[in-house]
Amino acid sequence: MNIKPRKRFGQHWLKSQIALENIITAAHLKREDRVLEIGPGTGILTERLLPLVDRVLAVEIDRELCEFLRNKFANFPNFLLVEGDFLAQDLSSLLIENTSFLEYNKVVANIPYYITSPIIEKLLGTISKPSPKQLESIVLLIQKEVAERLVAKPGNKNYGALTLKVKYLADCEIVCKVPAKAFYPPPKVDSVVVKITPRKIDNPPRNPSFLERIIIMGFAGRRKMLRNNLKALVSPEFLAEILADFNINPQARAEDLDLPDWIALANALWDNRVELERSGFRD
Ligand code: SAH
Repeated sequence: MNIKPRKRFGQHWLKSQIALENIITAAHLKREDRVLEIGPGTGILTERLLPLVDRVLAVEIDRELCEFLRNKFANFPNFLLVEGDFLAQDLSSLLIENTSFLEYNKVVANIPYYITSPIIEKLLGTISKPSPKQLESIVLLIQKEVAERLVAKPGNKNYGALTLKVKYLADCEIVCKVPAKAFYPPPKVDSVVVKITPRKIDNPPRNPSFLERIIIMGFAGRRKMLRNNLKALVSPEFLAEILADFNINPQARAEDLDLPDWIALANALWDNRVELERSGFRD
């Protein structure tokens, strides 16, 4: 296959059979599954998926590759290709004639790394606006550094707003490492397979947008104490009192708080918003 990879679309063809095997195993595919694949490339993963599941919907931005894929999978009625930018597509309005492909319950993909976070956000939604569609699982091959942020624990240097935004909506685990040499051309970074399992939100805060806002504010200055990062919202003294109520060190940084702490903090601040308004807080 002589398809020259294009840098600007983040194209690196996966060639490791072991990596492909690991991706397929992690997805626990069943006959009735309907899969969404983002960035099928030359179809190396697609050709594994097609015989195993009910349907594969693939979204590929590269026009030449789309032509190639349509030919390659012409004999598979359970394959549907959408040509375009996954982030810009509104699949539901595009597939009104093909709603069965729209009912995908799993995502399995070796995605372009330059848009990893936006892809995850499009699949899961955000704290303030979770996706109305709850997928069974999302198995992705991504850059190792991003995966480490997804699974980081409080106190770890990789623990941040991305960790919490995803953790709020899903559980994440690292399935296996995939070395750069598993691709052609090899990317500059190592990769891992991650499995993201969306779940019901355990203890939603009273105001999810507010939680999202304090998480982003809290991590804006990583090395600073939380009470300083949230100064624009709440006086450091008042925040210290609230933290003390939860047995959290008043000198804590954003990275010291686990998700339940953030939710408790968001609720406590929200319940005291009348108080906060006096110091300039605006909803
Ligand atoms: N899955 C293939 C290719 C991975 S490379 C493999 O494992 O070999 C990433 C793929 O995503 C490329 O085919 C690239 O053209 C495609 N891509 C890049 N940006 C995209 C976008 N915004 N929407 C859809 N596909 C995209």
